[in-house]
Amino acid sequence: MFSSNDLERYSRQIILKKVGVLGQKKIQNAKVLVVGCGGLGTPVIDLLCRAGIGEIGMMDHDKVSISNLHRQVMFNSNDVGKHKVNILKKKINKINKKVRVKTYRIKAEDKNLGKILKQYDVIVDGTDNFKAKFLLNKFSIKYRKKLIIGAISKFEGHIFTFDFSLEKSPCLKCFYQGEPSEGVLDCETDGILGPTAVMTGSLQANEILKSILIVGKDLSSHILIIDLLNLKFRKVLFKKRKRCICENI
Ligand SMILES: [Zn+2]
Repeated sequence: MFSSNDLERYSRQIILKKVGVLGQKKIQNAKVLVVGCGGLGTPVIDLLCRAGIGEIGMMDHDKVSISNLHRQVMFNSNDVGKHKVNILKKKINKINKKVRVKTYRIKAEDKNLGKILKQYDVIVDGTDNFKAKFLLNKFSIKYRKKLIIGAISKFEGHIFTFDFSLEKSPCLKCFYQGEPSEGVLDCETDGILGPTAVMTGSLQANEILKSILIVGKDLSSHILIIDLLNLKFRKVLFKKRKRCICENI
């Protein structure tokens, strides 16, 4: 049951026909794991906590650096040098203390990711490298999770939504048949504008909430490419590839 304070807090989303009290209950029961708490992860975490998500897991081994502050919206100057997940836990508590928070101050690796990831319903990629993205892809297939991937560089954002509980779902490897070369979509070398990160993260948060509510049309079998320099949004269809790691879902 929701308290009258909860009903007031979430009233502007509960009023939506596609949410309602039942939808709010779904959001409250959802467990989401965010891997990578930077330019993409911070807007995702901010919006999910405000929406009343039940449990949020955050995995990141990094500390806040001063070069993060122009785009990583939940950090400020006092946080520089401190571990991101520790700072985020405190901030979430100030935003919405009903959200259960788990922190993993580690790097996502083969040996540790599976046992953490399997505890969550939706997996969010906020990482900045393809090695980690492919690892999340592999374990999300294994445990048949929903996986929302984001990638950013310069003025461009890419978003994928996969639901590996469905046999027909392609995966990230179906799209990137080879390994993208090192440095592709690397904001350290390519640069990134704050709104590109926040907008891509916001679109990921939107996909997460839709998949929890089971409303609207998701991006399955498409990549959404947002080009914020020229204001072009493109949805590109791609197919499940034969002999891919997702073949035997
Ligand atoms: Zn595949």
